[in-house]
Amino acid sequence: MRSGRGKEREVRNGKTRSKDCDGKIRRTQNRFCENRRVQGKRQACGKDDCRKVLEDEIRSKEVMDNIKSFELDHDKIVPGFYCLGEKNNVYTYDMRFKKPNGGDYISYAALHSIEHLFAVVIRNSEIKDSVVYFGPMGCRTGCYLLLFGIEEKEAKKAVCDCLKKCLEAAEVYGATRKECGNYLEHDLDGAKKEIAAYLEILEK
Ligand SMILES: [Zn+2]
Repeated sequence: MRSGRGKEREVRNGKTRSKDCDGKIRRTQNRFCENRRVQGKRQACGKDDCRKVLEDEIRSKEVMDNIKSFELDHDKIVPGFYCLGEKNNVYTYDMRFKKPNGGDYISYAALHSIEHLFAVVIRNSEIKDSVVYFGPMGCRTGCYLLLFGIEEKEAKKAVCDCLKKCLEAAEVYGATRKECGNYLEHDLDGAKKEIAAYLEILEK
């Protein structure tokens, strides 16, 4: 329960700090007790709205912890090869072909073919046993590659070698009706063009 309407209005509109239910200083704008902590965690005071803010905050954190790649500032990403992090010796790599939100994206068909080509080539390469995952980004600006125990320098070299191998492919691997979920949507030439342009960026 609120302690009084007069105080509530003053808290909402005022620029000065006021005191919470426990008499401690709190910020007036968000009506949340910043200073009340138990074992380092913020605690709501007895007010209903204060408790609700805390509960909502906890719930949204539990359900929607942001994933690492969303925390990148996509306005600052340029095409290249990046390690996004390591967990349990699995390294996540960002193979960024295109500038995010730059208006130029890999076509669906070319990206699909890149997926098939690169997946087959890297799983037949020297580091085949380290490949955990390879797949396209839904935004069509690149692909993700997860490798077990392979650090960035070695990973980048292996990726460049595999990209070169993809350029030699005479056909898209695994592109029959039996093997693929959308076998008509492929573009070998388009994939090779994108791969060649990306390779040039990596070898600069
Ligand atoms: Zn497919």
